Amino acid sequence: MIDITDPIYVLTIVAFVIGLIRMGNPATARSGILWAGIAMAFSIGATFFLPGISNLILIFPAILIGAVIGYVAARRVAIVNMPQMVAIYNGMGAGAASTIAAIELIRGNASSFNITIALAGAIIGNVSIAGSVIAFLKLQGWMMQKPITFTLQQVLNLIVAAVGIFFGVLFLTHFNTLLPYRDALIPFFVLTIGYGFLMGLPIGGADMPVLISLYNAMTGIAVGLEGFALSNYAMVVAGILVGAAGTILTLAMAKAMNRSVGAILAGGFGRTREENRTISGNLKPISSEDVAVMLAYASTVAIVPGFGMASAQAQFKVRDLTDLLISKGIRVFFAIHPVAGRMPGHMNVLLAEAGVPYDLLEDRDEANRAFQDVDISLVIGANDVVNPAARIQGTPIYGMPILDVDKSKNVVVLKRGAGKGFAGIENDLFYMDKTKMLYGDAQESISKVIQELKKL
Ligand code: NAP
Repeated sequence: MIDITDPIYVLTIVAFVIGLIRMGNPATARSGILWAGIAMAFSIGATFFLPGISNLILIFPAILIGAVIGYVAARRVAIVNMPQMVAIYNGMGAGAASTIAAIELIRGNASSFNITIALAGAIIGNVSIAGSVIAFLKLQGWMMQKPITFTLQQVLNLIVAAVGIFFGVLFLTHFNTLLPYRDALIPFFVLTIGYGFLMGLPIGGADMPVLISLYNAMTGIAVGLEGFALSNYAMVVAGILVGAAGTILTLAMAKAMNRSVGAILAGGFGRTREENRTISGNLKPISSEDVAVMLAYASTVAIVPGFGMASAQAQFKVRDLTDLLISKGIRVFFAIHPVAGRMPGHMNVLLAEAGVPYDLLEDRDEANRAFQDVDISLVIGANDVVNPAARIQGTPIYGMPILDVDKSKNVVVLKRGAGKGFAGIENDLFYMDKTKMLYGDAQESISKVIQELKKL
């Protein structure tokens, strides 16, 4: 029979690369996802043409069950719960890579090189699956979101990781001698998975995005390594693409939140100190009528969206307000912080969904250069990403690069009440003389402002 897996794998790789390129731009991102899906379908299809494929009676129902669960879950998930979903899918990818490693290692009929590669993939996959489970439980609120710490935690983590790796090395050096050394595999898997759980415990909720992105990169690397072990180059390329994209995202997120990736691996990540300071000034409520008047006299308005816009599903009203302001000759731009919301690119996705033109979106650096000329910054459900406390040493978010909204001439903050941001701390911006608070659900508040603005 002619081997058609190689040509299909080439198509798979091309489709993955096209998908990734298209995901790089909000305008083409949807089709990028579709291309990646097609690539996945190709690679699964090619598997059936591999020599020696058996157990079809198990494979087909497994694919069917997985596809139905995945489809229903993806249709139902609310956008605010997307990080949990990413965490759990990450874990599944890592679990699949570890399972392949386990099977290859139990078979044991490979070269030392391949065994080494399979073991390395298994370590990374095991840490990633266990860590992703912890990330899911914390984000879903099924486990305490606060960092879980105890004395000698890092020493314990180190011992568990070192002993787990020791059993891996023991297996590697003795895999072709008889059985007892095979038993090294069980402690190897138990301990490396255990290390993954331990590593996730001290991570606080606010630091979770970086960690999920790191697990994403690790899962890609694990899949790539298992691809090497199986000599399956579609897996190698897919793994490398996920690993590289995940690594770039991890570094960008870590930079955006001023966190060190090295500290994550040491398991000492995300310990937030309790806040212990008083802020001078007071909160000054404003009515939607007054906000409309302020806007009508502005020349430049910056819109700063955050998690509250997503939660209120206010993006469509925000688009209406933008159109109205532009029709009145007012310059409008959106200031987008890379970790605003609850998932990478969250604001971009919502604004693209509402049809906000992409050229109105400014990234943090561009926006920060522009704020001093902004007459009014409309902060719509953003909190941590505009908190000047990040510039004050000793505060829990010290060092996190923020949007310098406080440099604009006037600030109007739309939020429902006294709710804090994800980091759970007070926001100095809200107490400044130039800041007014428009209380209420963001969608309702913007609707009222639009009504008032239309009367002027
Ligand atoms: P944030 O700090 O979480 O603050 C959201 C604000 O929105 C709150 O002050 C809340 O105040 C308000 N709000 C909630 N529902 C609202 C509604 N229906 N209408 C109006 N306002 C509403 O948001 P952010 O500034 O976007 O910062 C994101 C935070 O999440 C960062 O700390 C980031 O590190 C973290 N994070 C990011 C990601 C990511 O990948 N982007 C993932 C996980 C965590 P009220 O309750 O008073 O209304």
